[in-house]
Amino acid sequence: MGATETTATEEGRGGSQGGDEQPLIHILWINAGLSCDGDSVSLTAAMQPSIEEIVTGALPGLPKIAVHWPLIDFECGPVQGADNFIEWFFKADRGELEPFVLVVEGSIPNESIKQEGYWCGFGDDPATGQPITTSEWLDRLASKATAVVAIGTCATYGGIHAMAGNPTGAMGVPDYLGWEWKSKAGLPIVCVPGCPIQPDNFAETLTYLLYQLAGSAPMIPLDDKLRPTWLFGATVHEGCDRGGYYEQGQFATEYGRPECLVRLGCWGPVVKCNVAKRGWINGVGGCPNVGGICIACTMPGFPDKFMPFMDAPPGSHISSNASSAYGSVIRKLREITTKTVDKEPKWRHSGDRLTTGYRPPW
Ligand code: SF4
Ligand code: SF4
Repeated sequence: MGATETTATEEGRGGSQGGDEQPLIHILWINAGLSCDGDSVSLTAAMQPSIEEIVTGALPGLPKIAVHWPLIDFECGPVQGADNFIEWFFKADRGELEPFVLVVEGSIPNESIKQEGYWCGFGDDPATGQPITTSEWLDRLASKATAVVAIGTCATYGGIHAMAGNPTGAMGVPDYLGWEWKSKAGLPIVCVPGCPIQPDNFAETLTYLLYQLAGSAPMIPLDDKLRPTWLFGATVHEGCDRGGYYEQGQFATEYGRPECLVRLGCWGPVVKCNVAKRGWINGVGGCPNVGGICIACTMPGFPDKFMPFMDAPPGSHISSNASSAYGSVIRKLREITTKTVDKEPKWRHSGDRLTTGYRPPW
């Protein structure tokens, strides 16, 4: 962000600002993996907190940060001329930015399989005039970063670019650096999957990390796929408001219906994601909760293990048939009870007689 980077420029190399003040934390954002920038765009929709609140330090106790994010940075552009955006990355490489968090968007192609050229890069090497590949940036910067964060399913697990048949040999950041990789501060790679990320999921994770770096939060809790556990600990199905239809054996047979979508291709019962529960922006939107099948876009097996998307998942027949059988019985019983509770008690009436059962205590 331009304004914030001005602060960073004024404050020099971003080290401690003297006294007891927290050091300025730089966030270096590389969106030059194999990526569509959808996660960057998605983050601008975050509300809890918003990116503006994070960047301007509007949250109590949050350290000052300077975000170097190509998506909205007015300094971003060609390497020469007025541009100095890439210089922040060279500074970090020279060890002149301390501390910094490295955010990676997009999957990492395998440059080793190329005889010449490159799959993707970010800025040019002044020494050679050649593009610096995204994997070389990871080689240069990961060991110097206080934390490495992978945003979106491409950066976390490879995603769509790493589909069977792709020519690039693309992979996620943990595949590239190693799943056991730790930053110099002892943090594992932090993965926030989603295609794209749910905006608040990433804003919340970034905020958590900043509180952790400020010393006011314990080690970020991650599962074995390096996902924040409070966001990815439950399945879509466990938070889907069509779960009641599933339980009663009511399944949509065409789009546009309110019932459970499992027979139309919803993978929600086996997918770790909170979007159905959380909504998309400010609680509005989502996937199966609002009529779109869950295609499992947060999962390491995405997309190959879930295609073709619009076929019913193979295992869903057994469970949905079982729920159709007992669900119809339960539904009948509930209809009887619903008729009873859908009526007011008989003592609520006008007239000169009280029939509530009230007995005066004197
Ligand atoms: S629509 Fe999908 S997530 Fe929702 S209840 Fe049905 S199977 Fe579960
Ligand atoms: S509910 Fe499914 S399709 Fe929607 S964001 Fe989550 S994993 Fe992706």
